[in-house]
Amino acid sequence: MRRRHTFLAAALLAGAGFAAAPAAAQGSLNLYCSVQVEWCQAIATNFQRDTGIRVNMTQRGSGETLAAIRAEGQNPRADVWFGGTGDPHLAAAEENLTQAYTSPNNAQLHPWALAQWNQSNQRAIGVYAGAVGFGFNTELLARKNIAPPACWSDLLDARFRGEIQVANPNSSGTAYVVIATLVQLMGEEEAFAYMRRLHPNVNSYTRSGTAPIKAVARGETGVSLSFVHDAVTERNAGFPVSYTTPCEGTGYEIGSMSIIRGARNLTQARRFYDWALTEPAQRLGFEAGGQLQTPSNRAAPLPPNAPDLGRIRLIEYDFAKYGRAAERRRLIERWDREVGSQP
Ligand code: PLP
Repeated sequence: MRRRHTFLAAALLAGAGFAAAPAAAQGSLNLYCSVQVEWCQAIATNFQRDTGIRVNMTQRGSGETLAAIRAEGQNPRADVWFGGTGDPHLAAAEENLTQAYTSPNNAQLHPWALAQWNQSNQRAIGVYAGAVGFGFNTELLARKNIAPPACWSDLLDARFRGEIQVANPNSSGTAYVVIATLVQLMGEEEAFAYMRRLHPNVNSYTRSGTAPIKAVARGETGVSLSFVHDAVTERNAGFPVSYTTPCEGTGYEIGSMSIIRGARNLTQARRFYDWALTEPAQRLGFEAGGQLQTPSNRAAPLPPNAPDLGRIRLIEYDFAKYGRAAERRRLIERWDREVGSQP
C-alpha cells in the first residue's frame, strides 16, 4: 500500500509539472498540523518521502494553532497549517494571517471544500469534513445502567451527572463547533442556558478536542461531545465505543488547510498544498492514521464504517458568521465567563 501511495503521488506530482530533484535541493517546510498526531506524522513522513522536502511538524489544536499564528504574525514560523476545524482557518483568513492560493488540484474537490475556499477569499480550503455527536463507552454505560444519549436534551438528565467530557473552546476547534452548533440550534440565550445547565454533568473541559473520546475509550468517562468519526477510530482500535448523532440535528466541520502569510518556504508550501489535495495523500488519513473523516478529494473513498454525512441530520452551519474572528472571540469569552469559570 505504501508503495502505491508513493507511486501515485509521484505520478500526480509529475503530472502537475513537478520535476524530480535530489532531496538536498528541495529545502524544507514548517508545518503546523491540527489533526491527530498519528495522521500528522504520516503526512509529514509521506510528503518528505515523495518530494525530498524536509518537514518540521508541530501538532496542536485548532484554537492553539490560531493563537500561535497570531502571535507570530510579524515573524511567521510556519509555512502551512494543515487540518483542524474550519472556523479558525476562516478567522485567520479574515485577519490577513494567511494568503490566497489556487491549486491546480482544486478541480478534484467536493463543492463543500471549495465553498470554504470561496468564503475565505481563496485562503483556506477544505481537506475533510466531519459531524459532531455523542461518543460513549458501551460497557461503562451498561454497567451503570445508563441509557445512551440520543438528543441534546438527554445530556441534561441527572443520569449523566459527572459523566460527560467536552473540550475547552480556547484551545480546541471541536469545542467551538459544539458551541456554534448549539447557538444555531437553540438561539444564543437558550444555548448558553443549556451549557450552564450541562456544566454539572461535565467532569472535564479538556485542552484537545480528541481527548474526550479517548477518555471514553479508556473508560474514564461515559460520554464525549466530539466528532463522531473519532468514535469509529476508537472502536476500530478495539475499544467498546459507539456513537449517536443528536435527534435535534447537529453541526459539522470543514477541516481546512491554509498557507501562512509571509511563509518563508512558499514554493514548498504550495507543493505541500497541492500534494495534500491529491487522492493518495487523502487516503493516508485512514490508511496510515486510522482516521475516518470524509475526504475532500472526490476520488478518495469514504473509509469503511466511516459516518456517512448524507445520513446525519446536519444543520445549515453558517460558516461565514461563526468563522468570523470577532464572533468567535465573543462566543468564547462568553463561554469563559458563564460556563468554563463555573465551580
Ligand atoms: N483531530 C481530528 C481527527 C479532527 O477531526 C479534528 C478536527 O478538525 C481535530 C483533531 C481538531 O482538534 P481540536 O478540537 O483539538 O482543535
